Amino acid sequence: MMTTLALADAASDASTRRALNDLSLAVAKCKKIVVVTGAGISCSSGIPDFRSSDGLYALVKEKYPDVVLKGRDLFDASLFRDSTSTAVFHTFIAQLKQSIDAAEPGPTHRFIHTLDAKKKLLRSYTQNIDGFEARVGLLGSASGEARSSGKGKSKLRTKDVKNVQLHGDIHRVRCRSCSAEYPYTPEHLAIFLEGDAPECPECLGRAEARATRCARPIKVGTLRPAIVLYDEPHPLGDEIGLIETADLTRKPDMLIIMGTSLKVHGLKKLVKEFAKAVHSQAPDTPVKGGKKAHMGKVVFVNRTPPSSEWSGIIDYHVEGTTDEWVGRVIKEWKAQRPADWEVQKTLVATESGDVSMSSPLNFKVVATTKSKGKKVEPKKKPHNEENVPPVHESTDMVLSTPDVATALAKSSSTTYFTQPPLSPSKRRQTNSHYTPESSPSKRRTMSPMKGLEDGARGLLFGAPSKTSSSMDLDLFEDNDMNDLSMRSPEKPKPIVKLPRRVRSTVRVA
Ligand SMILES: [Zn+2]
Repeated sequence: MMTTLALADAASDASTRRALNDLSLAVAKCKKIVVVTGAGISCSSGIPDFRSSDGLYALVKEKYPDVVLKGRDLFDASLFRDSTSTAVFHTFIAQLKQSIDAAEPGPTHRFIHTLDAKKKLLRSYTQNIDGFEARVGLLGSASGEARSSGKGKSKLRTKDVKNVQLHGDIHRVRCRSCSAEYPYTPEHLAIFLEGDAPECPECLGRAEARATRCARPIKVGTLRPAIVLYDEPHPLGDEIGLIETADLTRKPDMLIIMGTSLKVHGLKKLVKEFAKAVHSQAPDTPVKGGKKAHMGKVVFVNRTPPSSEWSGIIDYHVEGTTDEWVGRVIKEWKAQRPADWEVQKTLVATESGDVSMSSPLNFKVVATTKSKGKKVEPKKKPHNEENVPPVHESTDMVLSTPDVATALAKSSSTTYFTQPPLSPSKRRQTNSHYTPESSPSKRRTMSPMKGLEDGARGLLFGAPSKTSSSMDLDLFEDNDMNDLSMRSPEKPKPIVKLPRRVRSTVRVA
């Protein structure tokens, strides 16, 4: 039985409201949540619907007026057989990348990060190639950092990967000959925009070495965007398969599917397998308020309903935008389990020890016990300014720290969120010091993949998501939606303002 809960009805209908509230509480209580996402979660970031015939297609058309193409042709591996379609592809993806670079992750990306920060995220799987998850601090499978050594052939550090990129990453390039992978640089962009392709440095190096010893010359490969096309194996197919298998055996207690119409074969298979694993965690005889009542739910959040094929698999269809739903969940989670957010205060404060005081080693013990997933950066130089608040402390910084913001919120909710969204440059600045995954330089080292296995084959951009266009939610209207802790770890934490309890935790180390 699938229950439909329309977010639009919540205000007027008490039973919908109650059911949504129960669902939020279930999110708050579950500990091993699997999240599966599609294009719908990036809509509010203004990522153009690149499958439609306007927008980017029109731009490409300007440059290649004589080329007749259909969306599918642009993403089929066979495009490389023809030099014109290859050129169009390069231009198109370069333009898409420019749009993505200019955009910002949205509330749903931050929500997934919050689940991870609260130790509730078993794994995120996405069809999206925009890399927004990495920008909010979730290590992606395509990332260069996700590899045990920087090189393409090295092993994927599956334990550290938080976001599995089913269709690759638009911010990486890969050699068509030797599969060497690189970050997508501005130089690459300039070349791709013209429809050309840069030469592979790895191949070039080898060719030169051969030339110096007068060996037979080899072909120098060209670089291409490291996204997965139709009928193309995923470069990391085997590794992704292993991650999925491992996650299935770890008894996930909730599955949240957001912003995808679930029409791609490989994704359907993945969702069905996780749904089965999740349902096996549901209590045999559910008792309202019972110990395990929250476990075993499969939630689908999308503006349009799933097809009938999903009845018996999806338990709840939350009708609406993903941003709206995650805003509601966070709000209700805070209202019903405030303690979860107080724990986070301590956690954030200790994590921030290395941030605001530049003295990570002093906090090693606390940081490692309180936050297993986060690494204390041992390489940072410790210095002696601990307990001295940063000089540049300003009002909006105070407001921007979750711990203080929460404290402030208790006294005056109006000042809770006075801060405007960070500009990209500011965000990058603050990020770079604190979260290794989201630092811009590292983020650009996000890497590609090699070899999609059967189920994952031909997934790319599969089904058009219907959750596009207009957003109902003003991002900065709802205080809870804007909870800064959703982007918390990257902000400096003013020690002076910490609640006493937190301060003493900091001192312990
Ligand atoms: Zn190469």
